[in-house]
Amino acid sequence: MRVLRALVAFAPPWVVALALLAGPAGLLLDKPAHAEPSATIAKDARLAGDRERTRFIADLSKKVDVHVFAMGNPYRVIVDAADVSFQMPPGIGKQPRGLVTAFRYGLFAPGKSRIVLDVSGPFLIDKSFVLEARDDQPARLVIDLVPTDEKTFQAALQKARQAVVEKASLPIPQAPVRPADAKPVVVLDPGHGGVDPGTSSANGVTEKEIVLQFAKELKAKLLATGRYEVYLTREDDTFLPLRDRVAFAQKKGASLFLSIHADYFPSKIDDARGATVYTLSEEASDDEAQELAAKENFSDAIAGVALPDESDGVVANILIDLAQRETQNRSVVFARSIVGELAGKNVLHTKRMRSAGFRVLKSPDVPSVLLELGFLSNPDDEKELTSEQWRDRMADSVTQAIDSYFAKRLARNPF
Ligand SMILES: [Zn+2]
Repeated sequence: MRVLRALVAFAPPWVVALALLAGPAGLLLDKPAHAEPSATIAKDARLAGDRERTRFIADLSKKVDVHVFAMGNPYRVIVDAADVSFQMPPGIGKQPRGLVTAFRYGLFAPGKSRIVLDVSGPFLIDKSFVLEARDDQPARLVIDLVPTDEKTFQAALQKARQAVVEKASLPIPQAPVRPADAKPVVVLDPGHGGVDPGTSSANGVTEKEIVLQFAKELKAKLLATGRYEVYLTREDDTFLPLRDRVAFAQKKGASLFLSIHADYFPSKIDDARGATVYTLSEEASDDEAQELAAKENFSDAIAGVALPDESDGVVANILIDLAQRETQNRSVVFARSIVGELAGKNVLHTKRMRSAGFRVLKSPDVPSVLLELGFLSNPDDEKELTSEQWRDRMADSVTQAIDSYFAKRLARNPF
C-alpha cells in the first residue's frame, strides 16, 4: 500500500488516472481511464469535520451507484463504483483530517473505480449516500465516519460480510432531476393547519389562517416576478406533519424553504411587536428562541402525529450533522437577506439573528428559514397581520429578500 500511496501522491494526474488501486490482494493492474461518454467524472473531493465525525465528499458529474464498505487491518473505507473517471485536482488526499489520514482513488478493475480512505482507528460508516446535482451543486458522494471500539467495528464487519449478497441500496430522498436552466423552486410553508390552529389572538384570529393568507400572497408575488417555481406545503386548512413539510421541499427539489408563522408572547403583550427571523441551530440563541422552537415543534403532538423514531433520518433529532453545515450557511445568508430587507421597513421585532432547534428547518439539502410575521398577542400587530395593505407590503419585502438571496447566489462562484 505504501508504494501505491506514494504513486498517487507524487505522480502527475494522468498517471494517477491510469493507476489501478490495490485492493486487499494488493494487485496493481493497468487499464487506461479515459472517460467514456457515459462515464461519471469525479472532479474534486474533500474531508470535513473532526474526530467525532468525519465526512468525505466527492463532487461528481452525475449520480452514480456506489458500494461503500469498511475493511480492517488496516482500517479503510472502500468505495466502489462503475465507470468513474477521476479528474481531481492534483495533490488532494494527502492532508489528514479527523479520522481519515489520507485518501486516494483510481481504477480498480476494468470498468470499476475505487476510492480508498485510510482511517486511523476502529470506526463505523454512519452514512453514505449520493446526492443528485442541484442548482449550482454538483452530484455528490457523501460518507460519514464516526469512531467506535474494536469490538463494534469487528461486529459491523461481520454483519456487512453476511449482507454482501444483498444489493446495497441507497436510502436517499429522491430529488427530481431538473434541467440546469430550470427556475429555482421556492417552497413556502404556512405553519400549522387543520387540527392545529397554532397560536391565536384575544379576538380568536388564528395563526394558521394568517400564515396561509400571507403565504398565498407571497406566492403570487414571487410567481409574478417570473423567476421562480413556487409551491405551498399546504394550500388549505389541512394539517401537515413537520416531517412531511421537510419531505415536501426535498421532493420538489427546493432551492429555498420558508416556514411562515406568527408568534404569541403573553408576558410582553405591549413590548413584543414585529417580525423575527429564525434559523436552525442545536443550541438556541436565547431562551425566547428555545421556547418558540419547543412550541412550534409541538405541532405534531398537537395533531396526534407520532413523533419520528430513531430510524427517521430526516428529522429524528435536532443535531445538525455535517451534511447540513453547508445548507446551514446558506440558510443564514437567506435569513440575513430577510432581516436586511425588513430592517429598512421598521417591521422587525429584533434585528438579531435568532436560532433554535426547529424541526421544520431540518432539511439536509434545502436552505431553510422560519419567519415569525409578528405577535398575535399584540393588538397592534394583530391589526396589521389581518390587514391587506400590511400583507402586501410584507410580501413585497420578502420577495425582495428572496430576489437578493438568489442574486447573491448567482454572483458567487459556488466552488
Ligand atoms: Zn407557529
